[in-house]
Amino acid sequence: MSFIPFSLHATLMANLSEQGFSKPTPIQKETIGLAIEGHDVMGLAQTGTGKTAAFLLPILQRLGQTRRIPRALIVVPTRELAEQIRAVFEQLGKGTGLRWAMAYGGVGINPQITKLKKGVDVVIACPGRLLDHIERGTVDLSKIEVLVLDEADRMFDMGFLPDIRRIVKKLPAERQTLLFSATMPENIRSLARDVMRDPKTVEISHSMPPATVTHALFAVSDNQYKTPLLLALLKQIDRDSVLIFTRTKYRAERLTRQLISAGHRTTSLQGNLSQGRRKAAMDGFREGTFRIMVATDIASRGLDVSSISHVINYDIPAHVDDYVHRIGRTGRAAKDGDAFTFVTPDDADLVRAIEKRMGSRLARRILEGFKESEQPNAHLKKAKPAGQAAKAHKSSGQRRHFGPPRSGGRRR
Ligand code: ADP
Ligand code: MG
Repeated sequence: MSFIPFSLHATLMANLSEQGFSKPTPIQKETIGLAIEGHDVMGLAQTGTGKTAAFLLPILQRLGQTRRIPRALIVVPTRELAEQIRAVFEQLGKGTGLRWAMAYGGVGINPQITKLKKGVDVVIACPGRLLDHIERGTVDLSKIEVLVLDEADRMFDMGFLPDIRRIVKKLPAERQTLLFSATMPENIRSLARDVMRDPKTVEISHSMPPATVTHALFAVSDNQYKTPLLLALLKQIDRDSVLIFTRTKYRAERLTRQLISAGHRTTSLQGNLSQGRRKAAMDGFREGTFRIMVATDIASRGLDVSSISHVINYDIPAHVDDYVHRIGRTGRAAKDGDAFTFVTPDDADLVRAIEKRMGSRLARRILEGFKESEQPNAHLKKAKPAGQAAKAHKSSGQRRHFGPPRSGGRRR
C-alpha cells in the first residue's frame, strides 16, 4: 500500500516522495485515515515506527493554508523531541506555507513570543514553557482544532500529567485529540478517558526488537551445561538487572532455586503465582531487591522494567515472536541491552528462524574460561546410552517442545 488512498494534497505527496517515504509504516497505515476522518486516535507503537508523520500528515492535510492563528498544538516531553518534530514538520510541510513556533524551556522566552506574535499555525511545545506562555497570555489557544500528545508515557514518567491536564483545560472542547505512546500504563489510559472523545485505538505489536539490543548465541552441547554456563556468565558480565527465560514453569522454578543456592538474589515470575506474589516479584525486580528474574513467556507479557541490561534465553523460545517479545524487555528507552541465547544442537532450526526474522546472522560467542569438559557432570553424558538419556530428561520433569526435525511433522 502507498500513501495514495489517503488522498493527501499534492504538495504533501511530493514531500513524501522527496523524503523517500514510498509507503506508510504500520502505525501510519492504521492511524492516518482515522485522523483525517476527524476521529480521536490513540496510537501505540514502539520508538522508531514513524509516529511523527502519523500525526503530522493529518494535521498538514487539515490545516491546508496558513491562517496565522494556532490551530494545532503538539505537546512533547523534551525539547529534543520538539526539535525533531519541527524538523519533520519542515520536511513534510515544505511548500505549504504553514508556520510554526516552538515553546520549550531552557532558552529565552522572548524570541518565542516574537514568533508567536507574527502568527503561526502550529505550536510545538513542552508542558512547562507552554503553561508559562499561557499565563503570560502570549499564546492564543482558543482556535486549536487538533491537540497531539506525543510520547505520552514519557510525559507521565517525567511527571507532566498534571501540567497536561491544566493545558487541556485551556483548549476548545470541540477539538481532535491524537495521543501517541510506546506503552499504555493505567495513568495514560485514565488521561485518555478524560481528554479524548471516543478514541480509536491502534496498537502495533512489536515485530522487531529495539535496535539498541546486541544479540549473541552461546552454544552448549547439552542442556545439563546451561546452569554452569549461566553461573559463569553472570560472573563475567557487567550487569544491571537480568531477565532469564525458561521454556516451562518447572524449569523456571528449578533454575530459580539453583541461582539462589549459588548466592544470587533471584525472583521468579511464572503462570501459577497468585496476583499478590506476582506483584511482589515484579516490584522486587523493578526496585532492584532482586537483580535476577527467571520468567516464562506468558508471565512476562507487559513486563516493562527500564533497568534490564540483559535478557538471557536459558531456553531458546519455541516461536520467533516470543524471541522478539523477550528481547524487547531490554534495550528499552534507547538504552543498550544484551540478548544472550543458550542453544543446544537441537535448536538449529529455531536459530535459523530467528536469524531470518532479524535479517542477519546472530553472533556466536564463547565464554572465556568456560569448558564443558571441566564441569562436574561432564562424564555422565558420555556414559549414558541414548535411550537412558532420553528417560533421564523425562524423569527430571523436563519437557521438550521441540527436538530434531521430524520429517513432515509440524513442530512447536
Ligand atoms: P517514532 O516517533 O515512532 O519513534 P519517528 O517518527 O521518529 O518514529 O520515525 C522514525 C524514522 O522512520 C525516521 O527516521 C523517519 O524518517 C522514518 N520514517 C517514518 N515514516 C516513514 C515511511 N513511511 N517510510 C520510510 N521511513 C519512514
Ligand atoms: Mg516519536
